[in-house]
This record gives sequence, C-alpha cells and structure tokens, in this order.
Amino acid sequence: MATTLDRITPFKNEPVKSFADPADVAAMEAALEEVKASFGRFYPLVIDAERVETKKRIRSLNPAAPSEIVGETASASADDAQRAIDAAQRAFEGWREVPARERAEFLFKAAAAIRERRFLYDALLVYEVGKSWPEADADLAEAIDFLEFYGREMLRYAQPQPVTPIAGEENELVYIPLGVGAVIPPWNFAAAIMIGMSSAAIVAGNTVVLKPSSDSAIIAAWFVDLMHELGLPPGVLNFLPGSGSEIGDLIVAHPKVRFISFTGSKEVGLHINELAAKPEKGQRWIKRVVAEMGGKDAIIVAADADLDAAVEGVAVSAFGFQGQKCSACSRAIVEEPLYDAFLEKLRERVAKITVGDPSRRGTYMGPVINAKALETISKYIDVGKSEGRLVAGGKRREGDGYFLEPTVIADISPNARIAQEEIFGPVLAVIKARDFNDALAIANGTEFGLTGSVYTSDEKKIERATDEFFVGNLYFNRKSTGAMVGAHPFGGFNMSGTDSKAGGRDYLLLYLQAKTVSRKV
Ligand code: NAD
Repeated sequence: MATTLDRITPFKNEPVKSFADPADVAAMEAALEEVKASFGRFYPLVIDAERVETKKRIRSLNPAAPSEIVGETASASADDAQRAIDAAQRAFEGWREVPARERAEFLFKAAAAIRERRFLYDALLVYEVGKSWPEADADLAEAIDFLEFYGREMLRYAQPQPVTPIAGEENELVYIPLGVGAVIPPWNFAAAIMIGMSSAAIVAGNTVVLKPSSDSAIIAAWFVDLMHELGLPPGVLNFLPGSGSEIGDLIVAHPKVRFISFTGSKEVGLHINELAAKPEKGQRWIKRVVAEMGGKDAIIVAADADLDAAVEGVAVSAFGFQGQKCSACSRAIVEEPLYDAFLEKLRERVAKITVGDPSRRGTYMGPVINAKALETISKYIDVGKSEGRLVAGGKRREGDGYFLEPTVIADISPNARIAQEEIFGPVLAVIKARDFNDALAIANGTEFGLTGSVYTSDEKKIERATDEFFVGNLYFNRKSTGAMVGAHPFGGFNMSGTDSKAGGRDYLLLYLQAKTVSRKV
C-alpha cells in the first residue's frame, strides 16, 4: 500500500534566481513598486489568531533610506507576552494531536504560497534589510527549502522507528512534541531563519511564540498572516514583536515555555542559555535551548591555491550582503609565498564591488542594517586601521543610507581584535601565515567554529584540514557562505552555538522527545 511518503517527491533545493531572465526583472520591478506602495502599513500582534493593537510601536526602516518606514508593528508588553504564552499552551493540547501528515501539509502549502508571491517577498527583503536582488531571492529560496525539507522530515520521524526485537514483547519508539517554544530569530536571514525555526517547531507538533527581530518584523508579520490564511489553528503561531529587554527575558524565563530556539549573537545567546537554565516556580522541565550564534570565519589560502579562484571566493564570502552573514569570511589567512600577490589581486577585485541602493538591479552591496551597526562597524574599522594596514575601503558612503565601503585591512596579527571579535559587517582582516601548519593554528585560534574554507590543490592539505580545521561547515576551493538545505546541514561548534544543524536530518529532533512503549504479548 502506498504511504504518504511514497507520494511526496524527494526533496530538491529551490533554484535561486539570477535575474538574467527579462520576465523576472520585470516581475521584480513591479513587486518593488507594489511593496513600496504599502510602506508605513501597521501590523498588530497576533495572539490566538486575534489581532492586537498596542500604543507603543516598532518602526522597521529601509536601511538604504532610513526616512522611509517600511512598516510598523505593535510592540508587546509583559501582559501581551503572558497572553501569547497562555494561548500557545492552550493550542498545544489540540495541535499535538493533529497527525504529522496534516502538520506537514501546512508547510508544503506555505512553500507553494510563498513561491507564488516570491517577488513580493524578495522586494520586501530588499527594502527591510537591504539585500541585493539575488541575495533576497537566495534568502527566500532557503525559506522555501526549509518548509519543504522539514515537512518531509516530520513524515520520516512519524514512521515506525527501528528498535531491536525481543521475544514476548512489542516495542515501539515514537517522537512526540515538546510544548510551547519561544522562537527568536535574527534579522540577517529575515525569511530563511525566521521561517525555518518557526516551521520546524510547528511541524513537530509544538506551538510557538515568535519574537522577531525589530529590524525585520514586517516579513515575520507577512509569514504569520500567511499561515493563518492557510488555516493554521489559532494559538499555534503567535506573533509577538517587542523589545528584547522588555519581553525577551520574560518569555525565556517563563515556566510554561518548554524550549527556546534562538539564532543571533553570542552575547544574547549566552544570556538566554543562562536564564533558561534556572528553573522558575512551577516549572516542570529542564528547558531545551537551541542557540545558533556568531562566527569569525576564516578562509585559508594555501601557497598552492588557484589564486584567482581564492580571491573571488574571499571577496564574495566577505562582502556578499555586506558581510552580514554568520558564515561571512572575516579572516583571510594566506600562506607567505602568495601573500603579496593575493592582496594585490584582492584590492583590484574589491574595487569592482558596487555599493548603493539595493533596490536597483545590479547593486552588489547595499547598506548595513541600522545606525547602531554603522557606528559599531565604523569603530572596528578604526581599531583595524591601528592594528594593520588599510588596503581597501574604510569609509562611509555619502547619503542617508547606512552605506559602508568594502574594507580590507592587511598585516593583522592573529590575536588582534579585528581577528578575534565578530564585526558583522564588510570588514576583512588579512593575516599572513608562515606555512600551512601556522595557517591551521590561526584559523582555529578563536572561540568560534562556524564555517571555514581552504583553497588548495594539495590532497594532503585537504586531508589535514578535514581532520583538524574545527568548524561546523568546512568547504574546499569554494566560498564559505551559501550552505544549501539538505546538502550542507548548517551550524557551528564552540561559541558558534549548540552544535545544531539547520537543514539536516538531526534538526527536527531538537523539537521532539522520544517515548518508548513496551507491551508484553
Ligand atoms: P542579536 O543577538 O542582537 O538578536 C537576535 C534576536 O534576539 C533578535 O530577535 C533580538 O530581538 C533578540 N533578543 C535580543 N535580546 C534579547 C533578550 N534579552 N531576550 C530574548 N531575545 C532577545 O543578533 P542579530 O543582530 O539579530 O543577528 C546577528 C547575529 O546572529 C550575528 O552574531 C550572527 O553571526 C548570528 N547568526 C548566526 C547564525 C547561525 O546559524 N549560527 C545565523 C544567522 C545569524
């Protein structure tokens, strides 16, 4: 007999648009106009599928033109947070009983609906977080991938699980959900990470209080509205934008919250982990914390590397989406014989990067996310100038938007601040290594362990780095960014997080618990 799984096609990654097709260009231009026409719209909280207005509001600004308000959301109070958790708890009692197949259908339907409205979502990402067209579409394609992948994964976990047969007993192991989860995403993969974490939690049978980043709350509002349009029961996905300090700690510490799924900075992740570890009165479990955090990712350029390929890989890894990816290359570690030639070619390559309004087709780098990021990154550039030699960039671009030049600082010591601290902007430190041993030691010499890449043609170096380069996602002869769901399960070691792998076959287990049932026969 055919099972549900037989009728589902194998998972395939959603193709990303290059915008070479004039029809895609025309559709994107129309979508940009349509989204611009909706600027300033207000999005209330959504608690139990009810829309709740608040006096206080959060403004989401266009970082390329901060006088433009992309949209406003309500800003939740402590009372709203309490009500959202109560609603999620009530909804859990019903949602946990909904068959996995039906829960998965919601994800497949959401993927199809987002695919249909793709250019509108792309356009919103351009305006809300400053992504170039291809970066926006890649973010959205990854969101679709998470929906398609986790839907299929839930069907797999709902199948009978293998246990060793024992005479005289019938044994089974089933995966059941955890309960109410707080989902706290960052702004940088405003679609993919927000949708990926929320959908994984929901498809596993949990209910969610989604507290989006204030810099990307509008796209989260769109997603929550979409899920309700598709018929998701009230209370399963609650939309709770608000300030981290006002409601963040309350949600994390709340005794009814069973798990926290967080992606963001090391500082906030560690704070959440600490807070969640302390049981509150009435709490009946140890909270599970999934925390995916920052990086200080390195690309090693070995003396035997293909120089042109290495320069290209470093440039796109360091400056794609303005270096605001947790996987961005922020350290290029170059073996001495290639160092000068590498720097010269990199300088020429970086000079070709276009910086400007990302709503214009062809812009490569847009603005950084907000005024605070502009200030922090600018301070790091000053620190870098005192720690090394400025080779490219270093300045803010004229105008209102938060534009920074792609910046390369060479002759950086492995322990310099800009070689150790996550900057999260378009700043690359270039470090000279004596040899490959030295390069590996430098690459491993931070508290992070997220992504890394090695350019080399030497099989022995590939073998050594495979064993010794301690990162969650290691690449050879390609960029350090652009992990694909299913193909490159993503997540890092050490201070980069709790070793989870988004888009991998273990991921849903983070939102499930296993129950063994044994019956004497
Ligand atoms: P952030 O830590 O500032 O914020 C992340 C989220 O936490 C936001 O929604 C924010 O509102 C919320 N928050 C802040 N204080 C809180 C509190 N006290 N309680 C509860 N929630 C609180 O990070 P960001 O600037 O949004 O994102 C950038 C960071 O995310 C970088 O460090 C980047 O490396 C990391 N990141 C990691 C991954 C990964 O997979 N490892 C992926 C993307 C981004």
